[in-house]
Amino acid sequence: MNSRQPVLFLGHGDPMNALYDNAFTRALKTLGGSLPAKPSAVLLISAHWLTRGNFVSAAARPETIYDFGGFPDELYQVKYPAPGSPELAAKIADNIPSVSIDKTRGIDHGGWTVLKHLFPAADIPVVSMSIDFGKAPIHYVELGRQLRFLRDENVLVIGSGNIVHNIGMYFRKRDELPFDWAVEFDAYIASALKSGDMAALTDYERAGECASLSHPTNDHLLPLFYSAGARHENEDALFIHEEIIRSMSMRCVRFG
Ligand code: ZN
Repeated sequence: MNSRQPVLFLGHGDPMNALYDNAFTRALKTLGGSLPAKPSAVLLISAHWLTRGNFVSAAARPETIYDFGGFPDELYQVKYPAPGSPELAAKIADNIPSVSIDKTRGIDHGGWTVLKHLFPAADIPVVSMSIDFGKAPIHYVELGRQLRFLRDENVLVIGSGNIVHNIGMYFRKRDELPFDWAVEFDAYIASALKSGDMAALTDYERAGECASLSHPTNDHLLPLFYSAGARHENEDALFIHEEIIRSMSMRCVRFG
């Protein structure tokens, strides 16, 4: 039986999605039920774990991290008690020389707000991988390539960020309609993913002003490069959810 897992890139956006029942969270639920097998573990690359150097978390019981402020109490009551996998963390560190072990890191909201819908039972071990912030996109693509082997070991690799992410502009608009530049950049990335044009993807700044408006800082775009790197060349990009709210693209991608 072929148990190669797909690789995912998920938008996460508003942490309140953890509590919502909407088109986005329903798409995640459907996705969780459509995998070729129940994954033996999740490797999560979240936009919210930025470091100098590359780390994987080997926490056996990763805590749920509430890395945000000003949300209703009920959001702080949500727990995602999935176990960790020190074995998987060690395997990744053994296979990729630039990766070191972090023994304590929990699961940040880039992870648990989506995992809660993907795998509500929280019974699949989760290992987080940090982002060595400030490198060129190709650096992250190469790391993603080095993570590919995990897919054949029934590990689900998930990048979690947003293809368009401008928080300042998000709160500057009364309605939820997307900004034109958000639509333009989201379409640029979607096209690069559909055609498998890695040069267009990594050199995304060539899209012009819509790129800089979509990413005043590019932390939320970086997980996409890992996912694209872990994609095999012959695999289609399937968009399992497409939505832009003001300056936030919730587009979610499945490769393979
Ligand atoms: Zn975020």
